[in-house]
Amino acid sequence: MKIFLLFFMLAAHAELKVVTTTADLEALVTAVAGGKVKIDAIARGTQDPHSIEAKPSFMVKMRNADLVIAHGLELEAAWVVPLIQGSRNPKLAVGGKGFLELGDKLDPIEIPKGGVTRAEGDVHPGGNPHFTLDPLRLGKAAGLVAERLGELDTANRELFKKNAAVFHNRLAEKTKDWKTRLEKTKIKQIVTYHKTLNYFLDRFGIQNPIQLEPRPGIPPTAAHLMEVVETMKKNQVRLVLVENLYDAKAGEKVIGDVPGAKVARVPVSVGGEPEIKTNEQLLEKLVKTIEENSH
Ligand SMILES: [Zn+2]
Repeated sequence: MKIFLLFFMLAAHAELKVVTTTADLEALVTAVAGGKVKIDAIARGTQDPHSIEAKPSFMVKMRNADLVIAHGLELEAAWVVPLIQGSRNPKLAVGGKGFLELGDKLDPIEIPKGGVTRAEGDVHPGGNPHFTLDPLRLGKAAGLVAERLGELDTANRELFKKNAAVFHNRLAEKTKDWKTRLEKTKIKQIVTYHKTLNYFLDRFGIQNPIQLEPRPGIPPTAAHLMEVVETMKKNQVRLVLVENLYDAKAGEKVIGDVPGAKVARVPVSVGGEPEIKTNEQLLEKLVKTIEENSH
C-alpha cells in the first residue's frame, strides 16, 4: 500500500517531457514552461524543417515524451508521423492530448484553393506553416501551449498561464517598436527564397511578390529566375532575403540583373545563428537585417 502511494505521488509530480519539432517551438515552450518541463527539439535551427531524416535517436526521444508539439499544416508531415509511430508511445496518438499542432489554430495564411498535395512537390498543401515568425501569432501560440501543458500538469497550470501572458505581452510591445522601425526603412516589398518569411512580412505590411523557388519545395529554375528579375524590376524591389537553410546562389544571380538590388542571408529559426537563442532575438535579427539593407 505504502509503495503504491509513493508511486502515485511520484507520478503526480513527475516532470512533463515535451518534444518539439523545431527549435522555434522549443524556445516558445521554454518561455512558457518556466523550468517545470523537460524540453527536447528535433530539427535544429540550421536545418530545413520540411525534410528531416526520421532517425532512430529521434524515436527514442519520443518514446519517453508526454507531449509532442508541432507547427502542423503539414510542415513536418514527412517525418513526424513516422517518428511517432516508430516511438510506439501510445500517449502521442494523433488527436489525443499528447500531440499538439498549432498552425491550424492560428488563422493560417495561403491555404491553397483546390486540391494541392505534397505528392506534387508542394510542401504547403495545408497553408503556410511558418507562423513562428509572426510575433503576434507566436504570442497566441504561447497561450495554446500553456493550456495544453496545464491539462497535463495541473499543479503548474497557473504558472504556465502567467508565463504565456508575459511572453505574449512582451512580443506585442516589441511588435510596435519593430513596426515603427520597419516603416522607417520605407521597404514595401521583399523577395525571399521560400515563403518562410510571409507571416513576418505580412505583420509589418511588406509584400513578398515572388519567391526564388517557383513553388514551395521546388528548387529555382532558370526560367523562373528570369521571371523574378522581371518582377523585381517592375515592382522596384531592391532586397532579396535568402533564408540561410537554402543556397544563396539563386539570390546572387538575380540581384546581378537588377540594378541597385541587394541580397542578404537571414536565419529563420532560433539557433539559425549560434547567438540566437530566443524567438525575440530572432525577430530582432530580421528587423535589423532589413534596416541595414534599406539604403
Ligand atoms: Zn515551408
